[in-house]
Amino acid sequence: MSHYGPAPKRATYYRSSGASLSRKHALYLRRRLIFILTLALIGLLLLKSGSILHLFSSSQPAKKYLGSVCLDPGHGGDDTGAINQDLLERDLNLRVALRVQSILQSEDYRVYMTRTSNDQYLTNDNRVTFCNDTKANLLVAIHQNYFTDNVTDYTMALYYNQNSRGLAASLANATAARLGTENDGISRFNDGELMRAQMPAALIEGLFISSDQEYAQISETGSVRLAVEAEGIADGIRNFFKNPNQQPTQETDLNQAGSPG
Ligand SMILES: [Zn+2]
Repeated sequence: MSHYGPAPKRATYYRSSGASLSRKHALYLRRRLIFILTLALIGLLLLKSGSILHLFSSSQPAKKYLGSVCLDPGHGGDDTGAINQDLLERDLNLRVALRVQSILQSEDYRVYMTRTSNDQYLTNDNRVTFCNDTKANLLVAIHQNYFTDNVTDYTMALYYNQNSRGLAASLANATAARLGTENDGISRFNDGELMRAQMPAALIEGLFISSDQEYAQISETGSVRLAVEAEGIADGIRNFFKNPNQQPTQETDLNQAGSPG
């Protein structure tokens, strides 16, 4: 646009548009006010419904967990644990642990797993270091027992630190109740993993892999029998969160009787 254009025309333009400009401006201001008020109202409604948190946070809001558990399926890799024909303790422990994991996760417990594959070999030191690093509320090691005959079958749990006695009792009580096995109670056991755990820690010996009866049940309806064991362990964990001072049916001195599988 030229600066030297016809002045009257320009003056007319400004004069004639002067009044309508201020009306337009008022209209603009009113619309803007309505817009801001609408935004404020939407904001208030979102805030009230809590969904504003989702809009303004880049990450998911912190989930509220009922508690956290570090699950440690015993053995793994070349360490198969006890064997009965085609059943390896390593595999059964993982199947039970994965089932416990899914039960507890569906109930809003946070679950950490020391291993999720049968190829993984872990030392006791690896296991307890991993669990301590998670800062989980509990550590539960899952094993199956073994004996030289083919009829012995019972449930028991091991612990070392005094704060873990109730967890061992809770696990033995609930797992034996679900499996229908004899409840052999708990034993204090010198185990590096249980000893070094910075949270209540116990090792559950669910059933005897060497038992003919268990072998038949696991072979025929494997997932059912192991799912029942998992329900028992999940019960034991849940019960311990509710009452950490559970009592065992009995307590035996295992360090003189020999080491469990
Ligand atoms: Zn074992």
